[in-house]
Amino acid sequence: MDLGLRDRVAVVAAASRGIGFATAMELAREGARVFLCSRNAENAAEAARKINAETGAEAVGIRADVTDERETHDFIAEVAARAGRIDVCVTNAGGPPASTALHTELETYRRAFELNALSAIRLARLTLPHMRQHRWGRIINITSVSVKQPIEGLVLSNAVRAGLTGWAKTLASEVAPDGITVNNVAPGYTLTERQTELAEARSQQTGKSKEEIIAQWAAQVPMRRLARPEEIAAAIVFLASERASYITGVTLQVDGGYVRSIF
Ligand code: NAD
Repeated sequence: MDLGLRDRVAVVAAASRGIGFATAMELAREGARVFLCSRNAENAAEAARKINAETGAEAVGIRADVTDERETHDFIAEVAARAGRIDVCVTNAGGPPASTALHTELETYRRAFELNALSAIRLARLTLPHMRQHRWGRIINITSVSVKQPIEGLVLSNAVRAGLTGWAKTLASEVAPDGITVNNVAPGYTLTERQTELAEARSQQTGKSKEEIIAQWAAQVPMRRLARPEEIAAAIVFLASERASYITGVTLQVDGGYVRSIF
């Protein structure tokens, strides 16, 4: 199937590693022109270099913290100036810290809302005018299975990402007449650098090996393994494609069967 992404201009936020990086790589493999950001200029440039070396596609890494209004604005302005258009926007950021509903300060909720909701809303607001101009666009938010099945000890993800999902559904209806789709991809356990670091931290707390910690996570998943970042990226790239033209306002979980609900 030709995904119809050749020469489309794609913005991928928070993409120097992990799911964001894998998404930028897969979009480039489909012939899209990829502009990624990360908080560290060298890491962003290095990620873009790797993508270009592997795929031959145009890939540019730009420094921007997605929680910073000015830096996000400048990132999108630079993409628009260099590429002349923006067709696809994949929103992403680091995950919020673990905490419980009983022991989380209000200020911590504010920071999580900034990191995992406002960052996406801001990116969409900045890229939508470019999509509207050509009456074609794709916005895909990377969220989490926590929106379908709240995860114990992750109240910030459970609360904030559900809010973002409500916003995305609302936006999807508002921009549908313009040929723009808005969807969310909700990853389950995915073996990224961050997940490996979490396993190492858990290993030091519990005395279990890193491999045992990862095996415990895998045991909760019907497929009995964690996702590879490329498996999450494949779903994102499909939703970004021409072929996904009639899909909007959905949350697609990519989780090896982890979420137990029907919908
Ligand atoms: P990761 O830590 O491996 O990668 C995160 C990337 O985002 C890095 O490139 C980092 O530099 C960049 N980044 C972080 N904060 C940023 C900011 N403020 N501005 C710009 N760039 C920023 O994480 P990951 O595992 O790829 O996860 C990506 C997202 O998916 C996170 O929100 C995470 O919570 C969520 N998620 C991950 C999993 C999983 O198992 N890995 C599962 C569900 C949801």
